[in-house]
Amino acid sequence: MKVMKIVVCVKQIPDPAAPGSLDPSTNALKRDGKLILDDSDAYGVEMALQLVTAAGGGEVSIVSMAPNGETSGMRTALAMGAVRGVLVSDPALAGSDALTTARVLAAAVQKVGMPDLVIAATESTDGYTGTVPAQMAEVLGLPSVTFAKKVKVEGGVLKIDRQTEDGYDEVECPLPALVSVTAGVVEPRYPSFKGIMDAKKKEVITVTASDLGITPVGWSGAGQKVSSVTQAEARQAGQVIEDDGEAFNKIVAFLETLKVI
Ligand SMILES: Cc1cc2nc3c(=O)[nH]c(=O)nc-3n(C[C@H](O)[C@H](O)[C@H](O)COP(=O)(O)OP(=O)(O)OC[C@H]3O[C@@H](n4cnc5c(N)ncnc54)[C@H](O)[C@@H]3O)c2cc1C
Repeated sequence: MKVMKIVVCVKQIPDPAAPGSLDPSTNALKRDGKLILDDSDAYGVEMALQLVTAAGGGEVSIVSMAPNGETSGMRTALAMGAVRGVLVSDPALAGSDALTTARVLAAAVQKVGMPDLVIAATESTDGYTGTVPAQMAEVLGLPSVTFAKKVKVEGGVLKIDRQTEDGYDEVECPLPALVSVTAGVVEPRYPSFKGIMDAKKKEVITVTASDLGITPVGWSGAGQKVSSVTQAEARQAGQVIEDDGEAFNKIVAFLETLKVI
């Protein structure tokens, strides 16, 4: 295979370990603090780096759409080994729905230059509509290959094991293509100290939606809105069954009520 050019979508999200809050006027997640690389996308970055190594050369670029010019999460991906990034950041983007995000990210990919492969995660950790990758593929006119739990490229052909409910399907398609990968497709590396230092100097171009020619965006361009939000039900305490020699009967009866046996 010739050298491979890969673009990975990396979403930057509020730290899931920190308590999040919603803006009461919009029901959108507040994103005014530091954002980190979504764990889901660390798998995509690692997958891309391994595919480039397997191809014998090439490069991995990243694209992200995030508020406040935030690049902290992108720097993590650059520290892992990506070479450059395009960030789309623009106050006008607040309230963007998944389709607008797909249009914006597709334009960012074209700004980098059409690669052999675009990689995204199956779903993000905070929004998790799981719809952006397929919509991006449509906008870019690329085959959409989803739920990949194993990815390789042989002779210019993308070959994946596509996760299904009861196993996996083997799917092949020609490049260029867009693939979404599941968590665990590969084990993401930890950035080295040298990687972290080098990442500070790597190029991240920041553009607005209008620089990319994408309008309307944000609340005015969204075909969906969060109309109301309710508190999730508190989790009930579990039932402890002491084994008196007959505990299996109670467990079987419990599983029967769930209709799993
Ligand atoms: C100013 C501003 C404010 C925003 N406010 C919010 C908000 O309050 N809540 C919220 O959830 N989102 C917000 N976003 C981000 C954006 O609206 C969402 O990313 C978008 O709706 C995608 O939905 P999802 O997470 O369900 O995508 P999914 O379809 O679940 O994502 C699948 C995969 O697509 C890729 N992807 C998705 N979104 C991005 C992205 N933004 N950048 C790079 N790759 C991506 C990733 O690989 C991701 O794992 C904001 C963005 C901006 C610029």
